[in-house]
Amino acid sequence: MRTSALERFLRYVTIDTRSDERSLAVPSTPGQLTLMRLLASELSGLGLTDVVLDQHGYLMATVPASRGWEAAPVIGFIAHVDTSPEMSGTDVRPMVHERYDGGDIVLPDDPAAVLRPSSDPALAARVGDDIVTASGLTLLGGDDKAGVAEIMAAAEYLIGHPELRHGTIRIGFTPDEEIGRGADHFDVQRFGAFCAYTLDGGGRGELEWESFSADLFSATFKGFNTHPGYARGTMINAIRVAADFIASLPRDGVSPETTSGYDGFVHPYVVDASVDRTVVKVLIRDFLTGELGTKRAMLEHLARAAADAHPGAVVETALTEQYRNMREVLERYPAVIEHARQAIRAAGLVPIERPIRGGTDGSRLSFMGLPTPNLFAGEHNFHSRLEWVSAQDMEKAVEVVLALAQRWAQPDCIGN
Ligand SMILES: [Zn+2]
Repeated sequence: MRTSALERFLRYVTIDTRSDERSLAVPSTPGQLTLMRLLASELSGLGLTDVVLDQHGYLMATVPASRGWEAAPVIGFIAHVDTSPEMSGTDVRPMVHERYDGGDIVLPDDPAAVLRPSSDPALAARVGDDIVTASGLTLLGGDDKAGVAEIMAAAEYLIGHPELRHGTIRIGFTPDEEIGRGADHFDVQRFGAFCAYTLDGGGRGELEWESFSADLFSATFKGFNTHPGYARGTMINAIRVAADFIASLPRDGVSPETTSGYDGFVHPYVVDASVDRTVVKVLIRDFLTGELGTKRAMLEHLARAAADAHPGAVVETALTEQYRNMREVLERYPAVIEHARQAIRAAGLVPIERPIRGGTDGSRLSFMGLPTPNLFAGEHNFHSRLEWVSAQDMEKAVEVVLALAQRWAQPDCIGN
């Protein structure tokens, strides 16, 4: 089977859809709307119904049920159109390295950008595949345009094969996932599905249904500024107070650099510094939601201790909930996971289940009433100039979508 996934992917990645955390617009950047409008016209052209691009830049559409299967549960497939703001996404030049021979791949626009199978076992395992990369100056955008292209190709295939038995399939494309806003304006009611699957994962076979639980902690240290030449006995430097706080954070086993698997961490990642006022933002992550509180208490304690060591300094702390481990919801819907496992097997693959050390749109959508695990899309080296995707992995992802659509229409699902 050869679908339109690769051809679509090569077109979609040339549109710059980086999201922007500093923007208050919805979606955060106009490039995302450019791609959304293109997708909307392509979906209409393919014959999908209810194609709606809403005022927040979310695109939804329907593949109608095949005749006689209208009573099957409605399921959805979701991908995000934005790419990471951490790496340039302007003038992406995708290139296909056909029938990959297993050697180093030197990207032509920057000879220092080299994909080496010796340090990338996933790449070494894909000898013979058609490998897609960027040209060395930008990210590729496989995260998550691979998912977008696969869902589009699957929709096209379903519309073109009315003999396949499936219920109503909903499609959703979201903006601003990379800046944590992908679920903000997702209308779960209007989407109207029993469950959904994001296609936003790594290599073939991956199925993710556990994510971090996540909070954002911020400490604002307030000092007192005066002319440094005449500051003796009066200046209180908030930068020094904040530096003491950061230096006091434990590292071993509690930082991203020293943890993996099911470990959580605290991660100072933004400092906005001035003598008068310095804000430190710290990510708190753990698979156990209850552990977030323990880590928060430690941060509070260390922030106060730092302020107390500088007479006159004051600290104010704040906490923002970001997302929760989707497992808390998904373990109540075992069929959602089991059908995904079976669909992956139906595509000739072995399901690989691993916790996500991060979140996806599904981490929030699951808690908004739409159980949403994550499926592989074939992405590798996300947010990097060395990002790559295998065209054969993309085809496998399409197969999994088609298999899932059919599984949910089996007689034992209907009426559940
Ligand atoms: Zn992604």
